[in-house]
Amino acid sequence: MQALVYNGARDVVVTEVPDARIERPTDVLVRITTTNICGSDLHMYEGRTTMEPGRVLGHENLGEVVEIGSAVDRIKMGDMVCLPFNVACGHCKNCEAGLTGFCLTLNPGTAGAAYGFAGMGPFNGGQAELLRVPYGDFNCLRLPVDAKEKENDYVMLSDIFPTGWHCTELAGLRPGESAVVYGAGPIGLMAAYSALLKGASKVLVVDRHPDRLRLAEQIGAIAIDDSKASPVEQILNLTGGEGADRGCECVGYQAHDPQGHEHPNMTMNNLVRSVRPTGGIGVVGVFLPQDPGAPDDSTRRGEIPFDMGLFWFKGQKIGTGQANVKAYNRRLRNLIHTGRATPSFVISHELPLEQAPEGYRHFDARDEGWTKVVLHPDGRHR
Ligand SMILES: [Zn+2]
Ligand SMILES: [Zn+2]
Repeated sequence: MQALVYNGARDVVVTEVPDARIERPTDVLVRITTTNICGSDLHMYEGRTTMEPGRVLGHENLGEVVEIGSAVDRIKMGDMVCLPFNVACGHCKNCEAGLTGFCLTLNPGTAGAAYGFAGMGPFNGGQAELLRVPYGDFNCLRLPVDAKEKENDYVMLSDIFPTGWHCTELAGLRPGESAVVYGAGPIGLMAAYSALLKGASKVLVVDRHPDRLRLAEQIGAIAIDDSKASPVEQILNLTGGEGADRGCECVGYQAHDPQGHEHPNMTMNNLVRSVRPTGGIGVVGVFLPQDPGAPDDSTRRGEIPFDMGLFWFKGQKIGTGQANVKAYNRRLRNLIHTGRATPSFVISHELPLEQAPEGYRHFDARDEGWTKVVLHPDGRHR
């Protein structure tokens, strides 16, 4: 099959690899029709993770079931399914508690597995023609009759829509509260969108790329350009000097200032200053325990200078970690099905699989207008 393979920093190629196949009786094999390039793929693309060369990338996957293992009951051939980026067993302590992002079975020695992701187990990604889905009955989200018509919306259930939603949950957002979102990439836009769907009174989105800020305004958020003035001061001005009730971190450890200099603690410390006393902060931007490309020893170990004093003094709370996609994906699917949510608004480009390297290059360069790239390995847009 054709697949996008990671060779090394800024070196990905679409090439022939052995077909994904059923390996265990509980597996399902999916022919991928839509798979996205994610902002978190860029950490790997840039060589800023422990990703092994030769792996297939891609954790935002949707497609048609073309083969089922002998122990699969619920999922049938021909089902259109969306796969949570978390690969989970369904029967460990964490999966039982709904914490499928921290499955204890599939990535032994740590908690949490994912397709095509550094440090998240051996699973290949879905930027390919075929994807092996372990524990298919548990992991496949079946899509309704409008699966094909709304494919570009439903594919966002694999990661960014639930992850944005999760960020507002971690922050503790309640209807009528205000929220500030740092980062207007696809995840930040989904966090802002989720906050608005949940009835936030005011949503402020901080970024500096005009195309992303335009999308934030388009969904009803207030755009804050941090290249023009201090984002903290702009937020305090817009919240009566108090700060927002809730804050969302959707940038991660490669945060950088408008001049391009990396400061891994920048958004975290800005959030402490931008959120009101006793407010909540949700962190879904990626922070990693190892950053081989970091400029010094402590950041190589994933340590950042965090403003603990002000955080404690303000009595704030932080929730962190990747989203447990299965905790939300059914309900968010229903919002899409009934027309209440259309997360495909983030998509800027649809490409055939063979143009994936070009998609990576533009998305990585934050080229104007490349907000979200969707790949179709089924030959569309060729
Ligand atoms: Zn993703
Ligand atoms: Zn599990």
